[in-house]
Amino acid sequence: MKIPAAEDRIHVLDDDSSVWSVIRDVIATDNQEEAFYVCDVGDIVRKHKTWTAKLPRVQPHYAVKCNDGLIVLETLNALGASFDCASKGEINKVLSLGVAPERIVFANPAKPASHIRHAAATGVRTMTFDNETELHKVKKLFPDAKLVIRIRCDAADAQCQLGNKFGCDADSEAPHLLRVARSLGLDVVGVSFHVGSGCREPPVFRRAISASRDVFDCAATLGYEFEVLDIGGGFPGGRGTSIDKIAEIVNLALDDFFPDPSVRVIAEPGRFYVASAYTLACNVHSLRSVDRPDGDTHRMYYINDGVYGSFNCILYDHQVVVPQPLKQYPGSKYHPSSVWGPTCDGLDQVVEHVMLPEMKVGDWLVFEDMGAYTLPVASAFNGFPIPKVHIVMDESIATLLENMLHLTESHFEMLSVPRDRDTTAASTNYDHLPSFPITIEVPCG
Ligand code: PLP
Repeated sequence: MKIPAAEDRIHVLDDDSSVWSVIRDVIATDNQEEAFYVCDVGDIVRKHKTWTAKLPRVQPHYAVKCNDGLIVLETLNALGASFDCASKGEINKVLSLGVAPERIVFANPAKPASHIRHAAATGVRTMTFDNETELHKVKKLFPDAKLVIRIRCDAADAQCQLGNKFGCDADSEAPHLLRVARSLGLDVVGVSFHVGSGCREPPVFRRAISASRDVFDCAATLGYEFEVLDIGGGFPGGRGTSIDKIAEIVNLALDDFFPDPSVRVIAEPGRFYVASAYTLACNVHSLRSVDRPDGDTHRMYYINDGVYGSFNCILYDHQVVVPQPLKQYPGSKYHPSSVWGPTCDGLDQVVEHVMLPEMKVGDWLVFEDMGAYTLPVASAFNGFPIPKVHIVMDESIATLLENMLHLTESHFEMLSVPRDRDTTAASTNYDHLPSFPITIEVPCG
């Protein structure tokens, strides 16, 4: 297991600690001022357990674009998930973990030529398409590819719609594209769709699976024997969300339209796996009070991460983020407030209106559900660093992953452990994990 320098210590949670106590601990022990994340690996493991229980027929191919943190990829690889990659870079990242190319779907219907060549060179054969130009490109660059036709079926309500960009019409376009593929001698093996990210209309999955059935049948008339159904992403992952309804609808639709168990059903979940695993802590570094005509005073809090960093998710992913003060303010009145990022841009507003207690410079705001479409997009605009990630897991998860990742002493040498901080390691409490090669830091708070 390779863990980059920023993620070099794992905080093991016990009965008395939690993500929030680790946040307090990091702030106290590291004299922390920069914003930082805490990633709870146990949350990812529990999501995988939920997935396999609720969607037993559907093999998840985690959408790397959503959060390409090494700890996420390593954990999901160890748990047996497969991967959805959008580019050569993502393919390389996943292959570097030792993942077999057969476990990768190159799910980008419009791929640069060099990326198709790279897929050919590395044996990543399964890839999506939704247009004729792509078929000609694949014919030229990777004629042995196993192609999956992406059809369009949009949820009536989703956090991010994707159908404006990708997916051919199942009735009017797919038959023509399949005929072209056939005439080019290309191997089309299945159908994919993506109903929209953060789907809020579960019945769309039935419509999409039904439309996929029609495309399977059309392909059969052309001599194809389709074997893959890829139901894409769209599964919600934040606190207070559930995939139960979607799973119920998907399972029933699979029984109705794809009763043949030889059809391999896969999906490309992203946010489901990571949204709730990441919690972000930001420092209030400045504040202003503005008197309002109504007599109340509006507080403007400036924090050290903003829309050019992690909160790009507000602009690109249409997320609504909720600031929670880290500490209690007993007896404090709540005031109309806004929260701003650290850059010099007026666009850099994190929360337009929220009621907050009277906070001071140096206080902290915590944002939960920050794991999806945040870090991979973040920039260091204006010179503000991208937050580092602290990893936590409870003891049982640590033991599980130790075994699943086959960690040995040799891995330790690949790590960049900050030796000057080793004095805080309390490994004696965790002697039952003798070969765990990473400094284990026990949160004190
Ligand atoms: N697959 C493809 C092709 C995508 O474009 C996306 C997101 O944009 C995903 C999967 C992941 O979607 P989600 O995070 O909604 O599960």
